[in-house]
Amino acid sequence: AQAMVAETDPQAAALGYKAVAITVDKAKFAKYVAGQECDNCALYQAKGSATAGGCSLFGTKQVAAKGWCSAYAKKA
Ligand code: SF4
Repeated sequence: AQAMVAETDPQAAALGYKAVAITVDKAKFAKYVAGQECDNCALYQAKGSATAGGCSLFGTKQVAAKGWCSAYAKKA
């Protein structure tokens, strides 16, 4: 399996990435709306796994399907 993005990776931390979207700090990220998660984000690239996939912001590392970051953009 490909490496996962860690919440502590500098870019992930800068974007407020959480592997479990419901743990997002809503005080810091007021834009977060319940139900938003990587697998319904326009930047997510599903790769045959229900639990993780690519994100165009994170290169070859994978993000959690149930994750979230402040660059979230609703899939059209
Ligand atoms: Fe997840 Fe979208 Fe953020 Fe990528 S841009 S980490 S898919 S919420």
